Amino acid sequence: MGRHGFFRVSPIDEDHRKVDRATVRRVVGTFRPYKGKVGLVGLMIGVTSGLGVINPLMIVAVFDNALFGPNGTCQGQPCPNLPLLYFYVGVMIAVPIVTSIIGIAQTYLTNDVGLNVMQDLRNRLYQHLQAMPLRFFTTTRTGEIQSRLANDVGGVQSVVTDTASTVLSNVVTIVSTIIAMLVISIPLTILSLLLMPLFLWLTVKVGKARREVATNTQRTLADMTTITEETLSVSGILLSKAFGRQRFESERFRTENERLTGFLLRQTMIGRSFFALVGTFFSITPALVYLVAGWVNSNTGANVIEAGMLVGFTTLQSRLFFPIGSMLQVSTEVQSSLALFDRIFEYLDLPHEIHDAPDAVALDDVSGHVRLRDVRFRYEDPPDGVPVSPDGPPLADDDPAPREWTLDGVALDIRPGQLAALVGPSGAGKTTVTYLVPRLYDVQEGSVEIDGLDVRRITLESLGEAIGVVTQETYLFHDTVRRNLQYGKPDATDEELTTAAKAANIHDRIAELPEGYDTVVGERGYKLSGGEKQRLAIARVVLKDPRILILDEATSSLDTTSERLVQSALEPLMKGRTTIAIAHRLSTILSADVIFVLDRGRIVEQGTHEELVERNGLYAQLYEQQFRGGLVEAEFEDGVILASGEVVRTES
Ligand code: ATP
Repeated sequence: MGRHGFFRVSPIDEDHRKVDRATVRRVVGTFRPYKGKVGLVGLMIGVTSGLGVINPLMIVAVFDNALFGPNGTCQGQPCPNLPLLYFYVGVMIAVPIVTSIIGIAQTYLTNDVGLNVMQDLRNRLYQHLQAMPLRFFTTTRTGEIQSRLANDVGGVQSVVTDTASTVLSNVVTIVSTIIAMLVISIPLTILSLLLMPLFLWLTVKVGKARREVATNTQRTLADMTTITEETLSVSGILLSKAFGRQRFESERFRTENERLTGFLLRQTMIGRSFFALVGTFFSITPALVYLVAGWVNSNTGANVIEAGMLVGFTTLQSRLFFPIGSMLQVSTEVQSSLALFDRIFEYLDLPHEIHDAPDAVALDDVSGHVRLRDVRFRYEDPPDGVPVSPDGPPLADDDPAPREWTLDGVALDIRPGQLAALVGPSGAGKTTVTYLVPRLYDVQEGSVEIDGLDVRRITLESLGEAIGVVTQETYLFHDTVRRNLQYGKPDATDEELTTAAKAANIHDRIAELPEGYDTVVGERGYKLSGGEKQRLAIARVVLKDPRILILDEATSSLDTTSERLVQSALEPLMKGRTTIAIAHRLSTILSADVIFVLDRGRIVEQGTHEELVERNGLYAQLYEQQFRGGLVEAEFEDGVILASGEVVRTES
């Protein structure tokens, strides 16, 4: 601690305070829809806390007016003054009953509001995350996202439910009690409240420390969720088992777990000794009050402080302990929950980079003309100081500099109904091209157009409807086959489902499953083979019936039968639609109306298979290296005949 001591406010503190205030304002904002109920709760709290001082005041009255008045007279009558006593006792019985009834109603309302606020927050967060661009998910750990939705929103739940009402009821209780104490005796009140400023100051300090620990706790929780999510998923556990890394993973988990315990322990302990201090003070003060009363009475030689006053006063004073103690607790909880709210708001503030333009139009009657005009795109800006190679080719064979652009001046023109095949070496940018059409990312330069309309001017909803995607990795929800298929068309009838499944060559297989279309598949359900999953994905797109189809053909080789089934499911699907295929199958390439050859983010050749083989460039090379391997298979499957390296398509 420097010479300026505790009280110096550093610029960081100032910053914190600003953030705090902004956070508090936003938290209050989340309660706005429930204004009426909040007001009612406030009123109830005011009434019950105010009623709380009546009984201690009644004690004073009972003692000094009804039971043991000065000189044996109680309000002009000999003591005890029974009618007065009945009245006081009646009030002392009625007040707690009324308070309890209001208290129950208040608890119900408080929980109702608190839980609803949390529900809104969870919905808002989920909806916001749904609309986040793909970039966000490729750069954020899944566990982190889950942690914010589950741990953080869950963490503030109890606090929001309890805190607001506790604060209000405490404030009212403290204020009303102090007023009542002042009414009884000003010097005794001053004596009792002597240490209050010290408590207040300590409260703020302890709160800050707790908040810091709370942030760390949540961070560690998120780390642990991520580890669990990464390593206890099917693929994660497969990887760790295959590489014999279980010990390493357990160790990693243990370290984080240990940190968590440490933080949780600190969180509990911070402020504990402080509580002890407050507790001790409150236990001691009645004795001090009696002492001071004795001094005052002996110095003045009269009963300035009467017995009833003393009893009433110390009762009131003990009423202060609970709210003051709980204010300290609440203040640390408020600090911790502000940290959680900060984390939630941080996500809610993430911008939606990709959203509907104000003048966006809905696509209808799509004909499916897809065009990329001089598109330049990169996933992220290269960090300063990293050399980039502006012209595509690497600077040296063994040390390729990062490319300045992932796609560098790509121009494609795909007419409605055409099948366009994208081929090129790994990392050329084929997948990236297919990401730009449904606006999973936006281009930095140039434009992507559908039917002559820039995709950035089309509503995302209608764009999504116009495009269907079949990816290499088929994702199935843990749900029935029917529900998985209906993802393509929520209102599909059973008949439509079977027709689509038949078209995708998967109906017979589904019929064989234990519960047919009602068999649960997916991550933890019935396991389908790679080929079956692909056919299911194809059926899903058949149901969706989009005008534009994006197809990322699987590179993992399926067995011949499976391959043939997938292939014959795809052919009718591609018919009559504009299809952009990242082609790995020879048959797709051979039937493509146009082949675009990509290399390091540029289109280097384009044409039909025959034209490109003739040209003897990159395509011819790729064809020799990659596709001819598959040709043997194709010979069997598609009856393609190879005559001395030349490909002749047969009528099939
Ligand atoms: P493959 O045939 O191996 O799938 P591809 O031609 O489809 O390759 P892309 O996936 O489009 O290639 O990738 C093009 C380049 O962009 C690669 O260098 C890749 O490393 C990079 N890249 C891909 N996705 C991202 C991402 N999310 N963030 C940063 N760079 C990326």
